[in-house]
This record gives sequence, structure tokens and C-alpha cells, in this order.
Amino acid sequence: MLATGARFRPLAVPGAELDGVLPLRTLADADVLRERLDKASEIVVVGAGFIGLEFASVAIARGAGVHIIEVTHHPMGRVVSAPISRFFTDAHRRWGAQISLGTGVSRILGTGGRVTGVETTDGRRLPADLLLICIGVIPNAELAGEAGLAVDNGIVVDECLVTVDPGIVAIGDCANFPTPFAVGRVRLESVQNAVDQGRSVAAHIAGHRAPYDKVPWFWSDQGDLKLQIAGITTGHDATVLRGNPESGHFSVFCFRAGRLIGVESVNQTADHVVARRLLAGDPGLTPEQAADESYDLRAHARRLGAR
Ligand SMILES: Cc1cc2nc3c(=O)[nH]c(=O)nc-3n(C[C@H](O)[C@H](O)[C@H](O)COP(=O)(O)OP(=O)(O)OC[C@H]3O[C@@H](n4cnc5c(N)ncnc54)[C@H](O)[C@@H]3O)c2cc1C
Repeated sequence: MLATGARFRPLAVPGAELDGVLPLRTLADADVLRERLDKASEIVVVGAGFIGLEFASVAIARGAGVHIIEVTHHPMGRVVSAPISRFFTDAHRRWGAQISLGTGVSRILGTGGRVTGVETTDGRRLPADLLLICIGVIPNAELAGEAGLAVDNGIVVDECLVTVDPGIVAIGDCANFPTPFAVGRVRLESVQNAVDQGRSVAAHIAGHRAPYDKVPWFWSDQGDLKLQIAGITTGHDATVLRGNPESGHFSVFCFRAGRLIGVESVNQTADHVVARRLLAGDPGLTPEQAADESYDLRAHARRLGAR
């Protein structure tokens, strides 16, 4: 069983080797970062994904100046809908972070071997005594590749998580698998996915082979906001808001071709819990029902269970 995970994706620009340019992937990385954070006053975070934004909210709360640089125009855009991306961008700005969107790093600046700042692709120089690089990961698939297994953004497995060799399975961050929760294949980076796939192959090894079909879910805590996502919302063609973003408690229901494919909740755990139940089968929920706050989602889920 291959469960080799993924590793830090380095930023390939001049100056990336300078002291103070840090990754966050392992416990050792976290220990170094915690120590450096106490001494840092100006921090640049490269990459506005979950990890970059979670770190930014912690650094701001500790009193550091934080500038987040994101090459796309949508923080967390790989995994969340536009309304959630906008909501979190606004929240980070409100908490005090500066955010430059559509901006990359052309080189990292330093003196005496230590980082002093970055030069952005739009020609600005931002000061920094700590630079956190969080631009995603590289799946650890070399071992599988050397063994002759198919590799394509991770180790390619079938719906039962079996590679092209029937004696080898792959799970977790390193596995690229087909799922009924998305169009085509995915490689997910989440604790839920790693744990549930582990259970699935354990059952397989014990003689109960079945397609892996657990509803994917994710979370991210940033400041006082808890984001919880049920399903995979990438590829939606319509979103419906339930609740009021101004209250800080709301959900975005994401639909594709009229079918609910995922729900992104902010400080709204009840919606998240019911969404996981709905997505485990045919949700049978219309956009109108999702938008109507008086419509009882739990009763809807109970009726589905009874079908
Ligand atoms: C900072 C951070 C925050 C995160 N926060 C969340 C979160 O809030 N929620 C969430 O769901 N997920 C989160 N994740 C993602 C989550 O940690 C991963 O999805 C999960 O750990 C994947 O488990 P895994 O077992 O597939 O891989 P890993 O946990 O990466 O474990 C793989 C292990 O295999 C080892 N290995 C690799 N190659 C070999 C080899 N050839 N031989 C032997 N050993 C090898 C690696 O060293 C590693 O120890 C976070 C990740 C990071 C880095």
C-alpha cells in the first residue's frame, strides 16, 4: 500500500535559498516557523490557499504586518466558490492583511544571506523578514513511477483505489482516483480523505472490495471564521446563498446542472452536517429550497433517508 503523501512545492525564483524563506509541511517546519514568527515584524505570505490564509490570520493576531501575494485573482479559488473567496478576502483585509491579487514573485531579496523582501511580478518591492511559501504540494509518486505504475498528478488508481498492479493500492494525498463527487478524477489533500481511504483499503484487504464512495469534506479555521466544505464544489454552474454573509453565518450551496454538488458553510456547522447527509445519496434539493431559509433541510435529509 502506497501512502507516501505529498511534499512542499518550492518557489523556483532567485533568492529562494535565503534564510527566513520558509515552508510549512512537516512538524519540523512548524517548529521553525513558530520560533521565527515570534521575531518577525513584516511577513510576506506567498499563496492564498488554506495554509497561507490560516497562517496569515495567526500572524496578524500576533501583531505582525502581513502581505499576502496570490497569483490568481481568487484566494482559495482552487477549492471554493467566488462568493466564499470574496468573503474571506474581505475578512483578511479587515483583520489588517494587505493582499495583492494577480501578482507573483519575480525574486526574493536578501542581505548577508537573510531575506529582506520580495520583488513582485508587477515590479514592487515588499519588505519582509519572514517569507512563507505555500503554493501547493507535489505528490510523492516517484516510487510508484519507478515501479512502473501509472502516474498522472499522483498515483493513478481505480474506483477501489487499486493501481494498474492488482497487488498495489494507493491512498491519501498521493492517490489520483475517480469519484462520483466530481467530473473525472481528483487527488484530494485532506485528513478525511486519507483516513476514509485507509479504512476502505483495509476492508478491501480483509476481503470486502467496494468502490470508495465517502463524501469528501474539508475545513479551514481562519480568525473567527470556520469554513466547512461538504462535497467537491469545483465545476459548479450555479450558487445559492443561504443565510446572510453580514451576520458571519451563512452557506453557499453549489449546483451543477440543477443537482447539488457541494455546500460551503461559514460558522454554520448545522448546514455542513446536513449537507454531508444529503450528498451521500441523491440530494434531491432544488436551488429554490436551498435559498429558502424556512425550508427545513434536516427534515429533507430525513425524508431522503426514508426513501
Ligand atoms: C500545514 C498543513 C495544514 C493542514 N491542515 C489540514 C486541515 O485543516 N484539514 C485537512 O483535512 N487537511 C489538512 N492538511 C492536509 C493533511 O495533512 C493531508 O491531507 C494528510 O496528512 C494526508 O495524509 P497522507 O497519509 O496521505 O500523507 P502524509 O500525511 O503526507 O504522510 C505521508 C508520509 O509518507 C512519508 N513518505 C513519503 N515517501 C516515502 C517513501 N518513499 N518511503 C517511506 N515513507 C515515505 C512521508 O514522509 C510522510 O510522513 C494540512 C496539511 C498541512 C501541511
